[in-house]
Amino acid sequence: MTNKQAAIKILKRLKRNGFEALLAGGCVRDMLLGKRAKDYDVATDAQPKDVTGLFRRTLKVGAKFGVIIVLIEDQQVEVATFRTETDYVDGRHPAAVQFANAAEDAERRDFTINGMFYDHLKKEVIDYVDGQADLRAKIVRTIGRPAARFSEDYLRMLRAVRFSTQLDFTIEPLTWSAICSNAANIARISGERISMELEGILVNPNRSAGASMLFDSGLVETVFPRLSRQHREKAIDVLAQLRKQVDFALALACFFVGCPTDFAIEKCQVLKLSKTQTKHIKFLLANRGKLLDDGMSLADLKKILAEPYFGDLYELQRAIQMAEGGPDNTAALENLNNRIKELGDIDLRPKPLLNGHDLIRLGAVPGPALGQLSEELYVAQLEGKLQRPEQAEQWVQKWLKRHREIEK
Ligand code: ATP
Ligand code: MG
Repeated sequence: MTNKQAAIKILKRLKRNGFEALLAGGCVRDMLLGKRAKDYDVATDAQPKDVTGLFRRTLKVGAKFGVIIVLIEDQQVEVATFRTETDYVDGRHPAAVQFANAAEDAERRDFTINGMFYDHLKKEVIDYVDGQADLRAKIVRTIGRPAARFSEDYLRMLRAVRFSTQLDFTIEPLTWSAICSNAANIARISGERISMELEGILVNPNRSAGASMLFDSGLVETVFPRLSRQHREKAIDVLAQLRKQVDFALALACFFVGCPTDFAIEKCQVLKLSKTQTKHIKFLLANRGKLLDDGMSLADLKKILAEPYFGDLYELQRAIQMAEGGPDNTAALENLNNRIKELGDIDLRPKPLLNGHDLIRLGAVPGPALGQLSEELYVAQLEGKLQRPEQAEQWVQKWLKRHREIEK
């Protein structure tokens, strides 16, 4: 069963029991745009207790705010009671909700394009906020006065930029100027929420336009203070060259491509990224430029090819080269490609010919020198200078002799 089918089943049962029930919000917008919606939300005049009474499997996640999750087969559908929200505290959360009718429920939603309902049985759009006109004109506009709506919940500013990016819509001028004058207030929103919206913006193929809006509005200045004008140009140019499908880490590395690695990683802390994501970004930024070095040793080439994020590093570098000089600027990467092709189908991370125990048996002393020996030995192996353990043993003996002489 699809999410849409589950939602329709819920609509029908609510209606049969005398309640009003409509599809609401993002799914109506996407249906009108001819796009497949991520998920289908139901809005109803049934109260949470009515909803839990009508459906066997429910989750009372936000019952206080009138939101119940109904589980049908493998699907989850949000069923929300028509409501108004008041007394916003901390620029994000309503302190109270009152149950209301559909028209009032539309008014509490963020943007006109997100404020429509659809009556599935009558096949009718119910539009109290002129969402259809803005959808046709490709405009993101707050429902009601923008400054007031943002002051209720400042996350909406980032949501505006996200919808504008994802749909390729323009932000209506008054909505835009309210974002610009309130940009500093995005600091009141948690890093996790900011991160989710930023991800929506930067993983979208239209990410370069999204990044421009983030910089121009002043939102970047608040979230990542002291990113200079130069960083801005570089980020926007390189983001524009990136392939369509990328994950958040690669997109963020591109966003920070004009900055020193440590500075970028420090800026990212506010986003509360996972350790893996942080490592990923750090690898990409720290290895900028490396792939252009045609003097790279065979061992270094094999090592970098064996890195899990090599593909992303290549893509980042390709985007940088394209941004800086177009297709004529990618010769170094083509050379690299040729070197990789020449390697053929080889083991990039072969088992070391000798392990630590072997090295100690041959007379190496445990400690930092042993680490250095084993690293140099592995490089010689990757360079193709050593094929068999006996050759490696000879090499180690020479190494030990040389180092003993140096110590004397
Ligand atoms: P997406 O396709 O990205 O999920 P969506 O429009 O469905 O977009 P959701 O965050 O899933 O967005 O929210 C569902 C609906 O709830 C929105 O369409 C909007 O009507 C309302 N909504 C969500 N967040 C807010 C908010 N912060 N302020 C006001 N209304 C909101
Ligand atoms: Mg949604």
